[in-house]
Amino acid sequence: MTTIYSADRVRTHTDTGTIGDGSVVVNDEGLIEWVGPTADLPATFKDIAPTRFDGTLMPGLVDTHVHLGFDGGPNPVQRMMSETDSDQLVLMLRSARELLSAGVTTARDLGARSYLDVVVRDAILRGDARGPRLIASGAPLTPTGGHCWFMGGEADGAYELRKAVRRHHEHGADSIKIMSTGGFMTKGSAPWFAQYSEEELALAVSDAHRLGKRAVAHAHGIEGIRNAVRGGIDALEHCTFVASDGSMGFDAALADEIAARGVYVSLTLNVRAWQMLKAGAGGFVDHVAMIVQELRARGVRIVTGTDAGIDLAPHFAYAAGLEALAALGMPVEDVLHAATVVSAESFGLAGQIGALRPGAFADFIGVTGDPAADLTCLRRPFLVVASGTRFVPDPYPELESLATNASAGPGSLGHEH
Ligand SMILES: [Zn+2]
Repeated sequence: MTTIYSADRVRTHTDTGTIGDGSVVVNDEGLIEWVGPTADLPATFKDIAPTRFDGTLMPGLVDTHVHLGFDGGPNPVQRMMSETDSDQLVLMLRSARELLSAGVTTARDLGARSYLDVVVRDAILRGDARGPRLIASGAPLTPTGGHCWFMGGEADGAYELRKAVRRHHEHGADSIKIMSTGGFMTKGSAPWFAQYSEEELALAVSDAHRLGKRAVAHAHGIEGIRNAVRGGIDALEHCTFVASDGSMGFDAALADEIAARGVYVSLTLNVRAWQMLKAGAGGFVDHVAMIVQELRARGVRIVTGTDAGIDLAPHFAYAAGLEALAALGMPVEDVLHAATVVSAESFGLAGQIGALRPGAFADFIGVTGDPAADLTCLRRPFLVVASGTRFVPDPYPELESLATNASAGPGSLGHEH
């Protein structure tokens, strides 16, 4: 059945720009058939009554970094470690609904156990469950006992890394996540230490590319960022430029290299950064603002990953990460494009998602007002269409009501994965 959605404003995120009083025509294959001014609707659609909304229709939002298996509560790691795979699967289906309710129509899971992300992805594709279009990465690859080892992706040295990439391919993963550095909270690992050499990463990444997958690195420390970039990584997660003594550093030459190699960067800003900004906290927030500025000045393409699911960062709080990015100096229009077309491009899905154009997946949202004027309207979409099927968003709490982590230093990012 062909469906027409009309609104005061349609943001296409293509060369067409924003259309006043526009319509989106969705065909029965879940694809966009036509986009344009309502007055110009082709005669073939004249008999179909449009569903009309006040507000803005725009491409569905993209989160390039989520963990469906983390619940966004006070201790998601403990929960994951104590749960059976069946329990985890139930939680992951819940997280997927939360993301979709928040308007996220595509998400990349960057750390799940037992290939449960592949199971959830396929269930959503079949229509057995509702959630975003999922890009599954399986368990992140990490040395024995390394950051997030408990997800089951332990791999030491080039041979095991390649074997793990191939095993992920065999099990249907779409992309590869490698822990290039430690993290703040996994016992025995530290964010400033590199976990793999440039040579090891290069071998893993080239094998991922051979299998048609993009490779993403979790990297805080400068050394680990450099190893990943020179190893050919496609995207960096966190990218906090922690120096070898644990202090917040920066490396302009390395930032130039990130830009020159076209590596996408997700700073994993989420509701916790949003809370720090609301509290007027300086320190770490100022450091990230500097990174945003330096990377943008060099033309690095920033994408919107939120690390959804980690401690006190529930999946439904997605919009807070976009607001934080804007508060740190990224123009609103650039934030909106980062959250759609740029993130789509980082997945190799340009033209298929992230923009409203004929032939693209009918993944879009409706929000009250104009997001270009006020990003907060993204907090609660009134309409979510995913793969052409309308989804009634589940209710979820206000951002202001969420629990806050009392500390506001680098340690408060401490639970990142
Ligand atoms: Zn993560």
